[in-house]
Amino acid sequence: MAGDVVYESQGTWDPERPDTTIITCVDGRWYQHFQEFAREHLKAGPRTDYLAVPGGIEPMTLFDLMPKDFNFFRRRLEALVESHGTHRIVAIAHQDCAWYKARKIGPIKIDLRERQISDLRRAAKHLREMFEGVQVETYFARLAGTQPERVVFEAV
Ligand SMILES: [Zn+2]
Repeated sequence: MAGDVVYESQGTWDPERPDTTIITCVDGRWYQHFQEFAREHLKAGPRTDYLAVPGGIEPMTLFDLMPKDFNFFRRRLEALVESHGTHRIVAIAHQDCAWYKARKIGPIKIDLRERQISDLRRAAKHLREMFEGVQVETYFARLAGTQPERVVFEAV
C-alpha cells in the first residue's frame, strides 16, 4: 500500500548541509571509491553532495558544441551552489569511462585519459569563472597494481 513504510534507514537524520559538491560519473564500480576518497582524502565529511551523470564533468565543456547539455548542467549546479552554500567543487574523472569511449569518433585514435584530463581543466576554468569564492579541484581515478587491482587518484 502507498504510505506503508517498507524500510527505515539505520543512520539518524542530520539536517546540516555539506559544503562540498562532487561531480562524477555514475559508474557503480567506481562509486564506492569516489566516496572513500571524499571521506578519507578530501576530508569532505561523511556526507557530501554528488552531481553524477554519465561522463561526469563533460557537459561543462560543451558550451559551444552542445549548449543544451551545458545549460542543463550549469543551471542545476548554479542552483545547488546557491541553495546549499557550496564552498568547494571537486570533479573526478575515471579510467575506462563508457561515456568517453562511446564518444570516440571513427577510427581516430585519441588518448581518452588525455581527453578527460583536458576536459577537467577546461571545465575547472569555467567553474572558477562562474563561482567566485568556490574552490575547484580536479582528479583522475585509475587502476593500479594487480590481483586485485586498486583504485588510485591523481590530482590533475
Ligand atoms: Zn564513466
